[in-house]
Amino acid sequence: MRFEEIAGFFDRVESTGGRLEMAAILAELFRSVPVGELGAVINLSSGRLHPEYDSREFGMADKLVLRAISSVAGVDQKKVDEMAIATGDPGAVAETLIAKKKQMTLFSEPLTLENVLRSLAEIEAASGKDSQDKKMKILSRLLHDSGPLEARYLCRIVTGRMRVGAGAMTVMDALSSAFATREDRPEIERAYNITCDMGLVAETLAGEGLDGVRKIAVRVGSPIKVMLAERLRSLPDIMERMGGRCAFEYKYDGIRVQAHISKDGGVRMYSRRLEDLSDNFSDVGESLQAQLMGREAIVEGECVAFDPTTGQIQPFQNVTHRRRKNDMSSAIEAVPVRIFLFDLLYYDGNDYTMVPYPERRAKLESVFSKADGFDRVGYSEQTIVDSPEGAQEFFDRSVASRCEGIMAKSLADESIYKAGARGFLWIKYKKDYTAALVDTFDLAVVGAFYGMGKRAGVYGALLMAAYDPDSGKWYTTCKLGTGFDDAFLATLPGMLESFKSEGKPSSVSAEMVPDVWFIPGVVLEVTAADISISPIHTAAYGAVKEGAGLGLRFPRFTGRVRDDKDPEQCTTVGEVKEFYDLQGERDGSDPDGDMDADE
Ligand code: ATP
Repeated sequence: MRFEEIAGFFDRVESTGGRLEMAAILAELFRSVPVGELGAVINLSSGRLHPEYDSREFGMADKLVLRAISSVAGVDQKKVDEMAIATGDPGAVAETLIAKKKQMTLFSEPLTLENVLRSLAEIEAASGKDSQDKKMKILSRLLHDSGPLEARYLCRIVTGRMRVGAGAMTVMDALSSAFATREDRPEIERAYNITCDMGLVAETLAGEGLDGVRKIAVRVGSPIKVMLAERLRSLPDIMERMGGRCAFEYKYDGIRVQAHISKDGGVRMYSRRLEDLSDNFSDVGESLQAQLMGREAIVEGECVAFDPTTGQIQPFQNVTHRRRKNDMSSAIEAVPVRIFLFDLLYYDGNDYTMVPYPERRAKLESVFSKADGFDRVGYSEQTIVDSPEGAQEFFDRSVASRCEGIMAKSLADESIYKAGARGFLWIKYKKDYTAALVDTFDLAVVGAFYGMGKRAGVYGALLMAAYDPDSGKWYTTCKLGTGFDDAFLATLPGMLESFKSEGKPSSVSAEMVPDVWFIPGVVLEVTAADISISPIHTAAYGAVKEGAGLGLRFPRFTGRVRDDKDPEQCTTVGEVKEFYDLQGERDGSDPDGDMDADE
């Protein structure tokens, strides 16, 4: 298949705003791709050669790509660099310059998908002394044979900017319409949720039909989408919702890790956004493996900084030192960590995701022996609670032990591990809930405003948005200008650079117009005084009042970048509405729409 055709489809998807239209275009693309290439096309549509949990990268900085563009287009490097600064997108630069060049050049080889995949694999694999030159030469060769659209996407792919705007939900809509029916959608989704490998699911569906998809199983090495918790306002509300009896566990404030322990000795550890953290927690991995003694398992737990001499949990900030990319050995030494295991999803050939929580917990406790002499592994503190007093007592104990609060877990027969879902089988309750507003918000940055006065030259405020899984879009909830210190403001432009967008991305709904737009990519944790009806923000638009959305009043950055969350995992507009409802009946209208103006 020609890469030009595929690039044409990507362009159509990107210029479309609606999820339905996107799915229709993708379905057309999927039907036209040979089965054996479908997985590769799906991975490429999000800029990858491999499933999303595979951490291999192309390793091409913008500078290198701009050099390739300059040499192929025959345009002065300075001019190319200026264009890149103006657009923030090497893909757009390549598109414009290759279009001009093509008017003059008559001959080049048409690019096939096969050729593109092979060359990209070579770029990825190039290492060692001359690797930068090698990568540049391969990209130049591809660009030489590219049309403008192909050049746009190739440059976006190698610089990690490939975001055509179709999320996993839209891709699955497209798959079910191309090769199955709407009713089959839940089975397709489950296969994806237990493997995180959309290419595998797509090729199986296209090649073997739904029967093949049903046979896709949990396996060590393929991360499972994490199960998430709902929240309620009080402990008695939780007890009532759980039918008067449930398990309570400490809610640890650390980094959630899913550990895949294989027979042959390897342990892979994934974050909830599927980053590979195996090197960051290699000491924990070794301990887990030593205890399994040659068996296979997938377990989940929270990695928390821990003082082995006092046995005390250390603040969250300490464990973040373990997220470093380089010089891990010194971080491992400096910050001892313990994993508090809370779930078992697979053991010794058996899938436990469909097994009720009490059985999973019992199995977990039988597999890892506590009295093992290893400091690095423990279970989450757990008890069965059947009274509001017992609930309060356990909660107080958890907070006194430096935890965030509790996780209530259903004991019912249906209390399976719901991969990729947030539901009431798990309910969280944090100590912050006793403060003014229930919980913090994890919001995606979709825009920035240039600073004035002291903040001149950097971004002074950000436009923040919540996610709507139904439409696949982000809706604004506040302009955030408080809670930043100078050091953070200085790092912001770099953090946001690769997400810059020339205009408002089609995946964002906003009335407020920032100076710079971003494709959602960076997630920040935000608190607020409360939620009000907003004439300017678009989250939950019309849900409470016609012609108005919901916005955060006096939003403040907590200082925590949620780099463990994808933008699709940020607070949803449904949750913003829930928070609003939890506040109770109130007249929270904000007639001026300036409630979130920064200082
Ligand atoms: P939060 O911001 O509260 O961490 P979240 O959206 O990241 O919320 P939730 O599912 O709402 O995730 O809260 C559960 C999170 O709490 C898990 O992702 C996990 O990291 C952490 N956690 C800590 N202790 C436990 C536990 N005992 N059982 C399950 N999750 C736990």
